[in-house]
Amino acid sequence: MKIICIGRNYAKHIEELANERPTNPVVFMKPDSAILPKRNPFFIPPFSNDVHHEVEVLVKINKVGKHIQPQFAHKYYDEIGLGIDFTARDVQAKCKEKGLPWEKAKAFDGSAVIGEFYPKSEFNLAEIKFQLLKNDEVVQDGNSNAMLWKIDELIAYVSQYFMLKKGDIIFTGTPAGVGKVEENDVLIGTLEGREAFKIKVK
Ligand code: ZN
Repeated sequence: MKIICIGRNYAKHIEELANERPTNPVVFMKPDSAILPKRNPFFIPPFSNDVHHEVEVLVKINKVGKHIQPQFAHKYYDEIGLGIDFTARDVQAKCKEKGLPWEKAKAFDGSAVIGEFYPKSEFNLAEIKFQLLKNDEVVQDGNSNAMLWKIDELIAYVSQYFMLKKGDIIFTGTPAGVGKVEENDVLIGTLEGREAFKIKVK
């Protein structure tokens, strides 16, 4: 399986990092080795002093497809989840400066937290509310209604480049409020009030 991630999909997050607003979705990938095994803590990697949490709505692809039209995209997923795209912001800043790829900052071991999935029928996809709590304090408070590109548009866009396969996961981008994680932090993600994951940072 593969993990396809979308960057810069929320206007307020683009502002907080002083990034340019893209004309098309920013796309990058994580390998399956980036998945943090269930119930494992997240270990801050030794090559970074500034790992950020990015909480994101996840979409699990349920069948093969390429060149999917937006109006048919809804047929390619039944489940919605929540996860974290851990990002070594200091490493990413260096990559950006030099125009280099982001993998070392985004695709390292353990960088993809994949929480529980729920049937999409349980949600109003146009307005999915989700939060990240750090040590019981809400640090990211998102709503899918603020996505620049909605889920179906993202599926249509990425499937022009990458054949989607059953089990692939799309990370749909983070809202504002990203920040550094420290040892002993506890991160809890909620999707419409359901606890989708709980991660200890080591
Ligand atoms: Zn992200």
